[in-house]
Parts: sequence; structure tokens; C-alpha cells
Amino acid sequence: MPDQDERRAELAASLARVRRRIADACAAVGRPRDEVTLVAVTKTYPATDVLHLAGLGVGDVGENRDQEAAPKAAQVRAAGTEVRWHFVGQLQRNKARSVATYADLVHSVDSVRLAGALAEAAARHRESPLDVLVQVSIDGDPARGGARLGGPPDTDLDQVAEAIAVTQSLRLRGVMTVAPVDWDPGAAFERLAGIADRMRVNYPTATVVSAGMSADVESAVEYGATHVRIGSALLGNRASLR
Ligand SMILES: *Cc1c(COP(=O)(O)O)cnc(C)c1O
Repeated sequence: MPDQDERRAELAASLARVRRRIADACAAVGRPRDEVTLVAVTKTYPATDVLHLAGLGVGDVGENRDQEAAPKAAQVRAAGTEVRWHFVGQLQRNKARSVATYADLVHSVDSVRLAGALAEAAARHRESPLDVLVQVSIDGDPARGGARLGGPPDTDLDQVAEAIAVTQSLRLRGVMTVAPVDWDPGAAFERLAGIADRMRVNYPTATVVSAGMSADVESAVEYGATHVRIGSALLGNRASLR
């Protein structure tokens, strides 16, 4: 257990660096800073870190596994702290109910079947609709998550978007991607921006573009990201590969 004063100081310093990077990236392309929301991805780090970050003004927190996120969200709430919870990881349909109870924005809806499971869970277990993004596969590699243009029906981007849009319990808010490791991130985010523009023609409320992680936040901001998901640059390198 690190000394909590020390940890808070460490997080304050890394947060200042990350905020500076975002501000500089916005300035470089003439975007207003308030167009970009920092989502602190706290996976593998404890609820105490979420509380420190919240105390430092971070209002948006991301997690990628329900088993870890559900108890962490409960601990943070029990401490009397409110943050917006972003679910950014691959989601199994049998976790839809749990995630629907604490998540404010699910970034990773990539199939018609998952949209259906989340819609049903949200209808039963929430009072307000659940905001969701379609996770897009930029390179079309079926081995990784993500819906794609012209994919098979269950994971076809347009069909996943429509499956969300027709529900009462989900709100289609936009798109998310993780840049493929073997791609230039700028090329990946430029392609995502095109997909986001195309989606907004049919669904005007789909204004969120979730792109950019610790290594490629500048490039994501250049290509229009509205939400950047930052883990290691804020919290430190994770012990295990996730
Ligand atoms: C872990 C994770 C992040 C944060 O990655 P860093 O490289 O640590 O900034 C962002 N998005 C998703 C989907 C993740 O799983």
C-alpha cells in the first residue's frame, strides 16, 4: 500500500502532464480544449486512485472488465464520490446486466446481439437510457473486437448502429476505436473520423468520437477525438498486460 499522500502527489503530477498534452494537441490544430474529455482508465488500480483523481478534478473514469469495475464503482460510490463510469473493454453478454447498473457510457458495443442484451438489461435495471458507442474495427481483422463496414450481419457497423438506435433503453452516442498496433495511428483515426461523420448523417446525436490512448493522444485529438482514454500515462505502467 503506497503512502496515500505520496500517491496523490504522483497522480497530480502525471495528471498535469496529461492535461498539458491534451491542451497542446488541441492548440496545435485550433480545437477548443473543452471539446476533449479525459477518461482516466483505472484498470488494475484501486478505488483509492479513483478517489484521488476525482479529488483532482477528473470526472470520467474508464474500466475494461466488469469483475473489477463493479466492486470499484461500488467502493467509490460508498465513499460519497460521484464520477462518470465508462466501460471500454470487451463485454460478454452475461455481464450486460451488471454493466448497465453502474456504467454511464459503454464504448464497446460491437454486435447486434450485444446491443440486444444491453438494451434488455438497461430497460429492466435502469431508470434512464444507457449511452453507448459502437466500437469500430479499423482494419477489419475479425480476430479483434469491433464492428466493421460490410461485416457479417451480427457485426456489421450499420446494423449494429441501427440495432441500438431502434431501442428505447439505449442511446447511440457515437463511435470508439483502438488503433491497430501495426497501423500509423493518424491513419486509423482519420478513417474513424470518416466513419463518425457518416454515422452522424443518419444519427445526429452520435457526436462522440472515443479514440486515443497514452501513446497516441495527440494524433487522436488531431483527427477529432472527443474522448481520450488514458491509462498508463496517468496511473503508471500496469503490472500485467491487458
Ligand atoms: C487500457 C485501455 C486504455 C488505456 O490504455 P493506456 O495505453 O494505458 O493509456 C484505453 N482504451 C482501452 C479500450 C483500454 O483497454
